Amino acid sequence: MSVRYAIISDIHSNLEAFEAVLERIDSIGVDDIICLGDIVGYNANPNECIEIIKARNIISVIGNHDSRASGLEEPFNFNNLASEAICWTREQLAHENLLFLKNLPKKISFDSNRSIAIHGSINNTDKYISSLADAYENFGFMNDEPNKPKVCFFGHTHIPKIYKYAAYKAVVVEGKEIELEDKTQYLINPGGVGQPRDGDPMAAFLVYDAEKRQIKFFRGEYDIAKCCEKVINAGLPRELAQRLLIGY
Ligand code: ZN
Repeated sequence: MSVRYAIISDIHSNLEAFEAVLERIDSIGVDDIICLGDIVGYNANPNECIEIIKARNIISVIGNHDSRASGLEEPFNFNNLASEAICWTREQLAHENLLFLKNLPKKISFDSNRSIAIHGSINNTDKYISSLADAYENFGFMNDEPNKPKVCFFGHTHIPKIYKYAAYKAVVVEGKEIELEDKTQYLINPGGVGQPRDGDPMAAFLVYDAEKRQIKFFRGEYDIAKCCEKVINAGLPRELAQRLLIGY
């Protein structure tokens, strides 16, 4: 039985960030790696990132960009930069990688059914959990889930965050290392690997020790200049390279 999980999210075809994060994870040593979706979109190495996911048996849910890039849905509600990158990604994707994205589940249960992994919100891949009200609503959805999981890992916002349910409301838990209380519900976001949006350009992930009930957030440097150069050389919008430099 696995006890230590690395939780990663929003790789977004950023091979440099993904490889740097995996190297760090390997040096820490975990039993399983779980990805909260958006393997592709925005940056220039979609096939390479999917192939690593497959080769390393990383368990992943589908993200809103994976769903658009694979043609399951059209990017109608995406902004121009995001939808331009989706069109570019669709043209690049090898058929087997497109099928791989298409067949990713929306939700997975792990950690002896104590935890679930999703991309956006429970029951809606596109919806953000970005406020206390959103968190409160999702704590309600957790109770409707089979097995009533205590921990829900989510991505999509690209911002590291922990909410817990306490005294009938959602509250933010601060800190880089958190001990989870028994019987308390948590919503936890590791931040983004391939396009951090909290003002820190370093790639983000977390390690969840299911035995010690401990969450530890990590940030790591990677070759941002190389990723930016690939974005520009691919003919993707320049803004997508610029945002990597400022972590937005
Ligand atoms: Zn994303």
